[in-house]
Amino acid sequence: MTHEALQEIVCCMGQPVAGNPTQYMMEKCFVAAGLEWRYLTLEVPGENLADALAGMKAMGFRGGNFTIPHKVEVIQHLDGLSEAAELMGAVNCINRVGDGFIGENTDGKGFVQSLKDVTDPEGKKILIFGAGGASRAIAVELGLSKVADITIVNRDEGRGQSLATLLNDRVKVPSRWIAWDGNHEVPEDIDIVINATSIGLNDASAMVPVDVSSLKENMIVSDVIFNPPETMFLKAAESQGCTTLDGLGMLVNQGVIGFKIWTGVDPDAAVMREALEEFLNI
Ligand code: NDP
Repeated sequence: MTHEALQEIVCCMGQPVAGNPTQYMMEKCFVAAGLEWRYLTLEVPGENLADALAGMKAMGFRGGNFTIPHKVEVIQHLDGLSEAAELMGAVNCINRVGDGFIGENTDGKGFVQSLKDVTDPEGKKILIFGAGGASRAIAVELGLSKVADITIVNRDEGRGQSLATLLNDRVKVPSRWIAWDGNHEVPEDIDIVINATSIGLNDASAMVPVDVSSLKENMIVSDVIFNPPETMFLKAAESQGCTTLDGLGMLVNQGVIGFKIWTGVDPDAAVMREALEEFLNI
């Protein structure tokens, strides 16, 4: 235990913060690791973000998570960024280093960690549905993990092109945007298919528009949706014999990474997953 006599605090800021699964998971893990730490959820309007960060410093918070709508805005109030956070232009985790806060992005790292349980991403060809925050985080982190190629399939051209340009120009991984029009046919040479859209969130019957017959058994198919974790998309992939990865794995691994960043302690991932399943009633 690094800070024996102190009760340390980390927090999550964003909206909505009520009933936060990460808080539940972190608090269980602090107890399991024998740490006298607390994880608070705090609802902070955008106009108060600077004051909230100053307050965190004044009160000696060790770090925190930032969710929608603060992931981009928080950057101007920080004292430095990790390589991945700088490339993504978004921060979901901050850590106190000396008197300052350093911004990190653990969304993509959590995904890659979860992927590494089933394969080494290096040299793989990737197709990602969606070009929002989760997609950007995953794509940049996969690029940094030296995948061979990333195709972005998205409805909105602006977001799709902007991500493909970022990947080509700054992350140096070959990439392109393809317009999403109807059931998308996944090319045979794709190794890993990822749903990084919000399709399936709180709706077990919502299906990602994909030509299911184009999902082949040698493919790894993954979903960012963690509630419910058994999405229609993953069920379809399973029926095709694909290896599947659910969004809970990504969330757990993000938690593992954040916990280690703040405390210096490796948490028990099984405790985290159990806590999440308990919280989500699954
Ligand atoms: P954003 O709002 O930034 O992006 C949403 C993306 O989904 C956009 O690309 C949007 O397309 C696409 N999309 C939404 N609805 C549809 C639809 N009906 N058809 C096609 N495309 C659609 O959200 P985030 O990227 O921040 O989050 C996405 C999901 O990822 C959320 O459900 C979130 O809960 C989950 N998530 C999970 C994490 C985990 O640890 N498991 C971590 C972070 C996020 P367009 O650009 O065309 O509008």
